Amino acid sequence: MGSVQDREGAGAKLSRSEASCVCGELRVTLKGPPSVVSSCCCRHCQRRRGSLVAVQAFYDVEQLVTVMGLSQTFMRSGDSGANVTFHFCARCGTTLHWFPEFRPGKVAVAVGAFADKSFPVPERLVWSEFRHPWVQVPPGTTEYSGNAPYAAPNIIQDDRRIRP
Ligand SMILES: [Zn+2]
Ligand SMILES: [Zn+2]
Repeated sequence: MGSVQDREGAGAKLSRSEASCVCGELRVTLKGPPSVVSSCCCRHCQRRRGSLVAVQAFYDVEQLVTVMGLSQTFMRSGDSGANVTFHFCARCGTTLHWFPEFRPGKVAVAVGAFADKSFPVPERLVWSEFRHPWVQVPPGTTEYSGNAPYAAPNIIQDDRRIRP
């Protein structure tokens, strides 16, 4: 695995970033840029966020350098039948990060928790079948009516190479 240092050139601003819950009790620090930034309009995300779109950044678990503060967990079964374990602040209730079994070795972090306007635009919006019609899809974001293919575009290409 390449060192994180190698990847810090282009995304210098994202070389180390912290995401925090509303009250500041629960914080995570991540090293290096996310592998995928994704948005989702599924009903679960809408209820979980209390919002119409959830935006999350996926990282390799090795990039999760620190987790500070107490979290509680909520587990739910995803569309694939695999579990997702959400970590939320026991004090203010913010869901900060979660571990999707369908993406082994990945951690997802709520993009809003970074409070960083320069965070990359999501590459994709999934479950747009539940998107409120007035919610706009940003230019450069690929929309999927249901779930998106498992992996990031570069990895999808790899899959095609393996299974033409
Ligand atoms: Zn909190
Ligand atoms: Zn969702």
